[in-house]
Amino acid sequence: MKKAYFLLAIAGLGINAYGQKTIDQKVAELLSKMTLEEKIGQMVQYSGFEYATGPQKSNSAAVLEEIKKGKVGSMLNVAGAGETRAFQKLAQQSRLKIPLLFGQDVIHGYRTTFPVNLGQAASWDLGMIERSERIAATEASAYGIHWTFAPMVDVARDPRWGRVMEGSGEDTYLGTQIGLARIKGFQGKGLGSLDAVMACAKHFAAYGAAVGGRDYNSVDMSLRQLNETYLPPFKAAAEAGVATFMNSFNDINGIPATANTYIQRDLLKGKWNYKGFVVSDWGSIGEMIPHGYAKDAGEAAEKAVLGGSDMDMESRVYMAELPKLVKEGKVDAKFVDDAAGRILAKKFEMGLFDDPYRFSDEKRQKEQTDNQENRKFGREFGSKSIVLLKNKENILPLSKNVKTVALIGPFGKETVANHGFWSIAFKDDNQRIVSQFDGIKNQLDKSSTLLYAKGCNVDDQDRSMFAEAVETAKKADVVIMTLGEGHAMSGEAKSRSNIGFSGVQEELLKEIMKTGKPVVLMINAGRPLIFNWAADHVPAIMYTWWLGTEAGNSIADVLFGAINPGGKLPMSFPRTEGQIPVYYNHYNTGRPAKNNTDRNYVSAYIDLDNDPKFPFGYGLSYTNFKYSDMALSSVSLKGNQTLTVSVTVSNTGKYDGEEVVQLYIRDLFGKVVRPVKDLKGFQKIFIKKGESRKVDFKLTPEDLKFFDNDLNYDWESGDFDIMIGTNSQEVQTKRIAWIK
Ligand code: BGC
Repeated sequence: MKKAYFLLAIAGLGINAYGQKTIDQKVAELLSKMTLEEKIGQMVQYSGFEYATGPQKSNSAAVLEEIKKGKVGSMLNVAGAGETRAFQKLAQQSRLKIPLLFGQDVIHGYRTTFPVNLGQAASWDLGMIERSERIAATEASAYGIHWTFAPMVDVARDPRWGRVMEGSGEDTYLGTQIGLARIKGFQGKGLGSLDAVMACAKHFAAYGAAVGGRDYNSVDMSLRQLNETYLPPFKAAAEAGVATFMNSFNDINGIPATANTYIQRDLLKGKWNYKGFVVSDWGSIGEMIPHGYAKDAGEAAEKAVLGGSDMDMESRVYMAELPKLVKEGKVDAKFVDDAAGRILAKKFEMGLFDDPYRFSDEKRQKEQTDNQENRKFGREFGSKSIVLLKNKENILPLSKNVKTVALIGPFGKETVANHGFWSIAFKDDNQRIVSQFDGIKNQLDKSSTLLYAKGCNVDDQDRSMFAEAVETAKKADVVIMTLGEGHAMSGEAKSRSNIGFSGVQEELLKEIMKTGKPVVLMINAGRPLIFNWAADHVPAIMYTWWLGTEAGNSIADVLFGAINPGGKLPMSFPRTEGQIPVYYNHYNTGRPAKNNTDRNYVSAYIDLDNDPKFPFGYGLSYTNFKYSDMALSSVSLKGNQTLTVSVTVSNTGKYDGEEVVQLYIRDLFGKVVRPVKDLKGFQKIFIKKGESRKVDFKLTPEDLKFFDNDLNYDWESGDFDIMIGTNSQEVQTKRIAWIK
């Protein structure tokens, strides 16, 4: 037999070229030895007890027994070399000694926390985003964690939804690129390497489109819109080999995502040929009962497993119901084999059958605790996530020898808040956080004075601290105000109907502005806030999100100019809540507004400008960038050719700096209406003061494709506007005809 045929033949048997069994072969062999209950056991995930409340807590002893009987496949919220080893030991007492998988929400860092994800997205820096997840994976895996429930790749156009802080904003293209960078960072050199964790694309799907921005709410949209706007980051994640998917709490057009055969079976496991497994969201299988889609636990389990949910996170219905359902013939055993097989395959890939304790390593854990290199990176990443919104008369950067600086606002001396919403609060991590006060103090000259006044609380009506704050401001040469929303006001179940500064913060700001002192405003938030008065009156504003362990240092680096800010908004910032959703890649109506203030047509409100307060892609720098010489390699193209779009960007200001050059297209006429603009590329470039750089982008017909109403994905001949600019509003345009 020729060598190639021989290799093919043994591959068919599930044996690789070196005579070893492939993972498929190992899984099949193991499944053949397992009882139905053991297989279903693989599909069960429980939460660690220290976090559990209510019935879960009282069940804890029972869960330990179930692990020993091989009735549990995975635990979440169990972390630490010692803890994971202890749980794994229980699993090793089971008949087939199948190891547990340990999952955890490692969302924006682990022992070193990084900016909240929306802030990271504002960096538009894919390399740094990937690096941050590499660090998070290295830290988490050293604590025995195998699997993170991240990245969240939900496109979100509604800032009332609290979970916008966890995603990459409103744009599908940007969100896809960031999702891919995160997966690469988490999974590193591949599953099985000691510093890699399995990633999880969530929440499948359209969780970010909840009606009214109310968390967990329904989603009702055309399949065209679903496929075009909300699914691409997931499809890209599947193609990139993300280890797992998590489904979502919402229903899509009446069918809960958890039991949605269209998205989980037809698309994900069918058309996209995805081989990883799908975990339910927390309790989402059982929640189909109150949702009104399953009449009892049995029906919930049946619908979920048939709908493609492989693992039951904390609904506790799979183990209770599936054995009976299979025995009664309501669920074909092949669905259980398929789900358990997918989960076992990942355990093999992670090397857990070779050594179930391989990630539980105290020495690595120690090295990855308060790791100075990781913190150094976090400091820089924090600065790169800041967006400079306004800098009238170049107040910023501040000089380090300003005589007296006053820091005013409820967040000035906060520590824990800087972690942001999704942090696994270890007590000693909290002690390591650099507050804004300390960060600023560390960089001010020894001869300068830093004063502080809290001024008000984050979220109440108490004005009793105003007077002291005003007195403090009067003593200062410059006032830095730190306002926004509390770190726990955005995140899961943190939707807000009013997204201004909470409490009396805006009133405090107005009082301080009356002193006539120059004011720099730092806005802390996990979402776009509405702050029209401040935007119109305060001379300098930076959006600082929640920046993580090194927050204070990151902020001070930008305030005093060690780092020139280059962040750009990943979401449009609305003028009022009534304007939501407002996003840059909308369609035109047949009566489009002529300009921002034109209110004669239906696209406008009679009481509001049409555009957002700050557009998608917007952000300033301490220097100035000038765009010139935009050129297309051709003005008419045929078929599968490549268009080169180029532009020269010159740094005409006084500082070296980074600029995110953005490329948008518009398909002028289509068989369905097309957005007025769609991001198709961006490059973050560094330019020294006084220098210029030519930037090239390539476009192919692949970039022109869209979904029609029959869900065909293709492009059409026609005219296209090609736009390049510094944000989604300030662009230069050239037209091209592209014929099939
Ligand atoms: C969230 C998920 C998270 C899970 C586990 C759920 O409530 O929606 O994103 O991964 O809890 O903590």
